[in-house]
Amino acid sequence: MAQSMFQSSSLSCSSSTDLSKNSAKISTIFGSQLRSSEIVQTQLRFMDAVKTNPTMRLKALRESPASTQEISDNKPKSTGVAEEVSDDFKELRQRFLDFKKDKYLKYSEHYKRLSEAQAPKFMVIACADSRVCPSSILGFQPGEAFVVRNVANLVPPHENGPCETNAALEFAVNALEVENILVVGHSCCGGIRALMSLQDEDNSSNSFIKSWVVVGKPARAKTKASASNLNFDQQCRHCEKESINKSLLNLLSYPWIKDRVTKGTLSIHGGYYDFIECTFEKWSLDYKGSTSISNADCSIKNREFWA
Ligand SMILES: [Zn+2]
Repeated sequence: MAQSMFQSSSLSCSSSTDLSKNSAKISTIFGSQLRSSEIVQTQLRFMDAVKTNPTMRLKALRESPASTQEISDNKPKSTGVAEEVSDDFKELRQRFLDFKKDKYLKYSEHYKRLSEAQAPKFMVIACADSRVCPSSILGFQPGEAFVVRNVANLVPPHENGPCETNAALEFAVNALEVENILVVGHSCCGGIRALMSLQDEDNSSNSFIKSWVVVGKPARAKTKASASNLNFDQQCRHCEKESINKSLLNLLSYPWIKDRVTKGTLSIHGGYYDFIECTFEKWSLDYKGSTSISNADCSIKNREFWA
């Protein structure tokens, strides 16, 4: 029963709405040159200053983060007193120095190119859970994947309005022009458990977690309807996968995603990492490109099981 949704060829889907104003915003924020993946600059942390100060924009693009730090007068100041470094950060410091020696300096040309631009093929949406880092389990190297992580790896539909996840999507799709969006779910997801624990009448006003995971309510409802014979843990596992499919369909509610999928320049994929068995399921959304999204237009293809 828990596997039945992947054997089904069709999925339900919400309709899309216009997002031309958001597309216009992209060009305002990032500038026309950023439409080319080859020259996209990625110093997002300078975005606010860059928007309001054209001079700083030029400096931010030319200079290192350290020199820009001086411009903004936020340069860290030493107290002159030897400070105790916690063991936790001693470990991180050593790891960073190892990375610098073994990777950054060893492949300096590669990292020099990355300092100038990025052109990742993947946009990955994964859970914030500490056990499911996509770079660790799928081996993404710097520059290969634009990643956003949130509780329960959810993609809200376009009509929900702006949030961190769709801001990252907008940049990855419209500016970086990624070729693939991969939504990765996982076993024992606390966020999905919180979603499945929601009460029907829960107004989600007393918890940030509830207010966020309510995005997955349609997946919860579908799980409750199709897997009512399973116990709660099994229903959670079912919903971990169901919510991925719902997120894939929610991606199509963004016009600039739907357009690219229809044209064949962007593909949408789901992934499920089971860290108990250490297996990975991967599948792709087969969208036929009809203007009206219906059950018949969406199906799963290229399903693989890596074990
Ligand atoms: Zn999770």
